[in-house]
Parts: sequence; C-alpha cells; structure tokens
Amino acid sequence: MDFRAIENKWQKRYEETKAFEPSVEPGKPKYFVTYPYPYMNGYFHIGRAFSGLRAEVLARYKLMQGFNVLFPFAFHCTGTPIVAAAERIAEGEKKQIEILKRAGIPEEEIPKFADPVYWTQYFSKATREDLKRVGAAIDWSRAFITTSLNPHYDSFIKWQFRKLKEGGYVVMGEHPVVWCPHCKSPVGDHGRLEGEGVTPEEIYLIKFRLGETILPCGTYRPETAYGVTNLWLNPDVTYIRAKVNDEEWLVSKETLDKLANQKYVASFIEEVRGRDLIGKMVLNQVTGMEVPILPAVFVDPAVGTGVVMSVPAHAPYDYAALRDIENDPARFGLTPDVISGIKLIPLITIEGFGKFPAKEIVERMNIKGQDDPKLEEATKEIYKKEFHTGVLNENCGKYAGRKVMDAKLELVSDFVHSGKAAIFYELPQQVVCRCLTKCVVKIVSDQWFLNYSNPIWKAQAHKALDAMALYPDKVRKQFEYVLDWLKDWACTREYGLGTELPWDKRWVIESLSDSTIYMAYYTISKYLQDPALGIRPEQLSDEFFDFVFLGKGTADEVSKKTGIEQGLILKMRDEFEYWYPFDMRCSGKDLVQNHLSFCIFNHTAIFPERHWPRGMSVNGFLQLDGQKMSSSRGNVYTLRQVLDMYGADATRLTLMYGGEGLEDPNWDSEFARTAWSKLAQWYDFAIENYGKGRDDVKYIDRWLESVATKSIKLTREAMDAMNFRTAIQRGYFDMQRYLRWYIRRSPVPNRRIISWFIEAQTKILAPFTPHICEEIWEKLGGSGFIAKAPYPTWDEKKIADETIERSEDFLRKVIEDIQEIITVANLSEAKDAYIYTSEEWKYKALQLATGKNMGDAMKAVMADPEMRKHGKEVSRYVQKVVSERLVPSGVDEAAVLNEAKDFIASEIGMNVHINSEFDPQGKRKHAIPGRPAIFIQS
Ligand code: ATP
Repeated sequence: MDFRAIENKWQKRYEETKAFEPSVEPGKPKYFVTYPYPYMNGYFHIGRAFSGLRAEVLARYKLMQGFNVLFPFAFHCTGTPIVAAAERIAEGEKKQIEILKRAGIPEEEIPKFADPVYWTQYFSKATREDLKRVGAAIDWSRAFITTSLNPHYDSFIKWQFRKLKEGGYVVMGEHPVVWCPHCKSPVGDHGRLEGEGVTPEEIYLIKFRLGETILPCGTYRPETAYGVTNLWLNPDVTYIRAKVNDEEWLVSKETLDKLANQKYVASFIEEVRGRDLIGKMVLNQVTGMEVPILPAVFVDPAVGTGVVMSVPAHAPYDYAALRDIENDPARFGLTPDVISGIKLIPLITIEGFGKFPAKEIVERMNIKGQDDPKLEEATKEIYKKEFHTGVLNENCGKYAGRKVMDAKLELVSDFVHSGKAAIFYELPQQVVCRCLTKCVVKIVSDQWFLNYSNPIWKAQAHKALDAMALYPDKVRKQFEYVLDWLKDWACTREYGLGTELPWDKRWVIESLSDSTIYMAYYTISKYLQDPALGIRPEQLSDEFFDFVFLGKGTADEVSKKTGIEQGLILKMRDEFEYWYPFDMRCSGKDLVQNHLSFCIFNHTAIFPERHWPRGMSVNGFLQLDGQKMSSSRGNVYTLRQVLDMYGADATRLTLMYGGEGLEDPNWDSEFARTAWSKLAQWYDFAIENYGKGRDDVKYIDRWLESVATKSIKLTREAMDAMNFRTAIQRGYFDMQRYLRWYIRRSPVPNRRIISWFIEAQTKILAPFTPHICEEIWEKLGGSGFIAKAPYPTWDEKKIADETIERSEDFLRKVIEDIQEIITVANLSEAKDAYIYTSEEWKYKALQLATGKNMGDAMKAVMADPEMRKHGKEVSRYVQKVVSERLVPSGVDEAAVLNEAKDFIASEIGMNVHINSEFDPQGKRKHAIPGRPAIFIQS
C-alpha cells in the first residue's frame, strides 16, 4: 500500500472542501487553539513540529467532540535575525552560506537570500507546504506574516501600542539590557543563538585602594567585604590603569568596554602587568585593614573586572587557593612571609557549620586544590545556605546580628553612598547573538520599555493566570515565578523588520513585543486580506480596532469614519466575539519566561477580563534520538526531511509518541521506521474484518468489549489532559494487544463487537494518523470525514461487571498452570489433559467465610448442616480462606472452561476434558475455587 497516494488524496480533499476553515455558528460551542507562530529564518523543524502538532491533535480531538474548532497559523518575520542573516549573505559570508546549503537550499537560490524579504516569502511558503504535507488541520484562510510587509497587521500592532501607551504600559527609561555590539541593539531571547533567558544581573564592585588607585572587586556578596584576607590578580594578565569618572581604577582590558557601556566615563591611562602587583598591600575601605595581593591563575579577566577579593572563611575557591599557596609558596613565586600573617576571618554564622564553613566543606569533601571540580558544588552549597539562613557576626560592624538576606540592601546602599562600592551589571552566562557576536550589558536611556515591573500590572497578570487552565498544572509555579520576576522589557530596536513605533519612527517594535495579542487578529484576518472585500490598510483606524476588539463606539460611526461597509464591520465584530478568548495555546517550555507570560500581561492591559486567555499547554524540548537537537552540530531534522523518509502519519505518530509533560520528548527514528507497517496492518485488518463474523456472544467477546471500553475511557482521560503519549499507549498499543489475544482466542470474531472495535480504534487513531484513518473510514462506509466523526464514548455498564475480565484471567492462569506441569513433568507426549473445578461446597464455604476473622468464619460455615458433612476438610479450607484472605471471583469456572475447551486444546496440544468422571488419582478433591485441579495422562 502506498502511503503517499493515500496522504495526497486526503490532503487534497481537506483542501478542496475547506475542511478546517470554520465560520461562526451561533449556539455551537467553539474551541480556539493556537501555537506561537514560528520565526521564518529556516525550514520548520521537527522540534517546532512537536509543539505545533500538540495543538493540532488537540484541535482534531475537539472537532471529534463536536466543537466548532479554529486552529489558525501565521509566520513571524519580526526582528533582526533575518535582516542580519540576509546581510551576511549579501557580504558573501561563508558560514551563513553554508547554513543555507546545509538546510537544502539549492545553490543557485542562495544569492536571492541577500534580500530579507525573500526569506520571509521563501520560508513561509515552505512552512505552509510542509504543514499541508503533514496533514495539519489548519485554517489557512487566516494565515499572515508579521511586520510592515503586511500593512494590515502593521496597523493592528500600531493600534495595540497606542493602547499600551495610553494605559501607561510603555515607558521611556534607563535600564541595563543584553546588547549586541555588532547589531548595535538589545538582543531579546528570540535573537540569541545561546543564552536564552539570561538577563543582566546586578553585582557590586568593592573598592580597595592601592595608594590613589582603586582596585574594584566584583562580587554578588558585598557583605563578605568584612572577611577579605587578600585580593587575587592573575599574574599573566595585563591590566589597565584607567580614569573612571573622577577616580583612577585598575581593571582588566575587557572591563574598560563594559564600563563604557554602563555609563561610566572611562579612559585608558597605561598598562600594568598583573605580576608586578603581587605582594603589594591594599586597603580594605570597609574594614580599614591592609591586605596583600596574591597571584591566582583562575582569575578570568573577562569575568567581573578581573580583580577578585578573597574571603577564605566563606568561599571554598578562596580557601583552596590560599591553602595551595600555603603548602608550596615557592611554586607561586612567593616567600612564606607574604602569607604568614593571613588569618581566616569569619563573618557569617550558619547552622550545621562551625566558624569557617568554606574550610570545613573543602576538608569534608576532600577537595585537593584550586583546580578540583568539586569546588563548584561546595560553593553552591555554602552560598545558598549563607544567603538564605546566614546571620552576620560581630565582625560586620553595624550589621552584626542581622540576617544576610535582610541586611543586604541597606548594606549595599551604605557602601555605594560612602564611595566604598559601585554598581555594575554582568551576564551570569554567555549570550551570543544570532549574528554570532558575543553580547554584553549596556545601559540604555532613550529606550522604550514595556513596564512589566509595574506591580499593578503584575497583579492583573496573576489574576489572569489564576483563572487559566495549565497543562501540566505543575508549570503554574514557573509562570508565577516569571510574572513576579519579569523586569521592564526593551520593546523597540533601531533596526530589523517590524512595525514602526507609532509615535517615534526611529524605532521598530521588537519580535517578542509584536506577538502578544495577535491571536485576536486571527479572528478577522481573513476579511482584512481578502482582495475581494478590498479593505485597505489606511482604513484600519484606531476606531475600527476599538470597535471590533473592544466594542467601543458603533458600527455605523466606524463605517462612516473608515469607509468600510457596516455589515462587514459587524461580521468581524461577531467573529471576534464568537472565537475570543483563545482556549488553548501550545508551546515549548522555552517561551514560559517570555512570550507566554508577555501574552498574559498584554491581554490584561488591552482586553476586558472575559477575553483573557483560558489555557496554555507547555511541553519539553524535542531531542533527536536521545541527543539535544542543535543546528550547529548538524543534528536537526526538518519536517520535510522526515516527511520524505517516513510520510505524514508515521511522522505524526512518532512525534506524539515521543513524550508528554515537561520532560523533553524524543524523536525515535527506529519507531518512525516501523510505524507505517504497523498502521498498514491495521488498515488490512479493519477492512477485512469489519461487519464480518459470528453472532453468538461468548465470554471472550464480552471480555474484548470490557477491556476496549476501559481503554477508551483511559484514552479520553489522557486526551483531556493532553497526555498524548499515554493516549497512544492506552488507545492504540493496549487495544492492539487486546485484539491480538481476542483473535487468538476467537479466530472468528463476533460481528457486532469487532465492528465496534474497528470503529473505535480507527477513531482513536484519527487525530494522530488522520490519512490512513480517513481511508479506512471511507472503505467502511463512514459518512463524511473521520476527522469530524464523533469520538468514541463508553458505556459504564460495559465495564461494571468485573467477572468478565476475571474469567479471562482465570482461563489464562489455567493454561499457564497446565503448560508448567507439562514442562516440569516432561509430559509433552501426553494426549489428554483433565481439568477439575472445585467441588460445589467449597464455593459456598468461601462465600460464607470471606472477609471474616477465624472465629466468625468457622461459626458461619459450621452453622450450615450441608458444610458440617465435610468435617475436617471444611475447617482446613476455612483456615486457608481466612489466612490467605481469599475472595470469591464470581467466575463460573466450569462454563468458562467448557466454552474455551477447543482453545485450551489448541494452546496445549492435547485433548481436554472438563470435570470428567474419570479421576483415577482423586484430583478433584484438591481443586479449590479459582485453582482447578489438573491431571495429565501420560
Ligand atoms: P529555533 O531556535 O530552532 O530556530 P525557535 O525557538 O526560534 O526555533 P520559534 O519559531 O520561536 O522557534 O518556535 C515556535 C514554537 O516551537 C515555540 O512554541 C517553541 O517553543 C517551539 N519549539 C521550537 N523548538 C522546539 C523543540 N526543539 N522542541 C519543542 N518545541 C520547540
């Protein structure tokens, strides 16, 4: 069977019939699913496809539940990365050309990519093709691209920003931002190759004095200035003496640029070799103590200022380095007297440690020296403990007795105002711009910010979050943290594709700021971009959006003002009112810290509460055969590559079986390779068996009905929780396993039950593997698309009778027992197997004794004269029932065995006799309920 032909056929049918282009149907419940529009800098890869398909599978599931479902799609083109990449192509840069070649762009096409517009056209077209080829149930009539290349969208974003400004949400301010020195612009998460989520962190420069020169030491722990015993300089580094504001500083070369970016006025005076300063004494202005400068090669000139203070009582690295020197001063070019006066200075008390926590942990962990990797862990433990629970001791002047956490702000303020410290910003991890340049911190002052730090706005965002459904709910904590922690966000750039800031044309709105409420735009985009309706962008005034999205004014007024026909305006208003808010947004977890949280914030700023988001689903990041996907390492699959290899249904099943929840899912190529043949087998089985079989109902038929009904129930529960991997396990793999057993038990199936099973199985698979399911559905004579057929439901009555499954378990156990006897006693040549179910009185005794203590059980059984006839045997059995807590199974054992007699015979390869009179060894006496006696005649 050719899957390509089937997939093409159904994709064509979907398109021709506009199967997924819903319109407003008053009274019919709607479901609006969205997915963050992907950035058009490359082909759609399978990582994006994983998150996108979760949205799509949900859309299909809701469709089968009878909802009117909207799942639209769009293409994000805003920002600098496309422009920067296009520039690099224009410059003929090899690396960028190689990236496009590796992506599969034909050589002769590459020069066209020197134009950023070409990127947006090429990749949006390619992405649309790929998504159609994967059978995505998308309403393409609403698709659009962002930026001024789409003037209608451009008007919408301008309206949004004017609204934000009116509400006081956009402000001009001075802030540290992550900055690309090459692009000369702030770099948001989207623009980064490395370092997503990294933001500038405040550190403190504690000023030590060497004569008139200041040695500023960077630290996150300014309080530890009270415990400094020495400074560290790297003897191999050439430092700079510089004029910084009105002081003279000694810092690493790298620091000079950093200072300039952070509004310090800094200029070069002269170079100074690190080694020339070793042994000199500097003044700790916080304590008034003189401390020596010692050498340390671990000092990285690129981190902080390249000048480091040493607090060996509380910093494991410092302690280890000092001990190295102490052990062998000559190795460091020092004489013992340089360090002989150094004494550890304790300053923080924490539980579980004595005076010198760093010394203790270094000794406890048996850390060898300053190169020992265990130092990292030791440092983490001490720093965390000291910050959260530490109390400053008598060496800390006026702060003595206070908790570190509580004293910190006041201490910083005192140090800075008295000139003993300065504020500085650092990136805690490396950030690399998509243009491959390493980023720095820059303090910008004429920059527009969305003031996410505004506590009133934060409170609104929390209110929205509290009312939202989150999948899985454990991501809520992360959202709460982000909403609290988000600082103001630089929302404009000096260059790149996008929408001009309406009131200041020097600026372009950046990519994480023009993408926060655009889900609303989907509700009307098909009208705006329909050439037949002829709506021109200049007609899209603020009054228009105010009416359509906020219900302000009247259609009549807006029509008069804009010239757009009144009926059309009302239609758009209806669309918005019908679809909004969106019910679910599905994304990878990378966007919790920015886009998804921004989406919540901006909705609360623009829309009334009833239009705030209803739900978000967050998933892990797709791995490729157990490895992190990374374009630099070349192990990225694009969607089109896997579609070429495996086809749409196998690709979809592999992705959705790849994982669920927040754990990173995995693309398993081996699974993908075998997926199609499994589906093809199902196709053959379904077509061959539907509507065929016998009419009598046996135990095994009721069993299949029961286990499959349970599977349907579990599958629905998993689908409702968006646990799609579990849904595939329960609804496909379990069901197939049951079916295999059923067919083995009953090669001629029951007509009604097998047909019901085939329908249910195909429908369960339909959201995951729609093409083959449509084909089966058509062959079975189903009406319309299976995509819109009702999802299987279940009848509780079918699973209420637990004896049905117990009967089958009983039978399986009997067969296993017989097989074991045959093996152990070496009886494979035997011809006849005799099975004896228990004598009747034991069933009765079990009924009477079960659940009672020994005394009561005996009393109950012995009260029955029938029982007493069996004398000692009764009391032995009752003892067994009580001690082994036996319960009646309700299984009619003789009936089950009789019905399955032929099956047992075929499984064991012997004649089978049930409860025969022939019992030469008196076996029957040993049978008890649930454990028939077995005799094999050799
Ligand atoms: P890339 O950095 O690979 O170009 P991106 O992060 O820029 O991708 P976007 O266009 O921002 O991709 O992503 C669109 C959606 O796809 C987002 O919801 C994002 O979380 C999701 N996504 C991207 N990569 C993966 C992945 N490897 N696994 C799961 N989801 C992903």
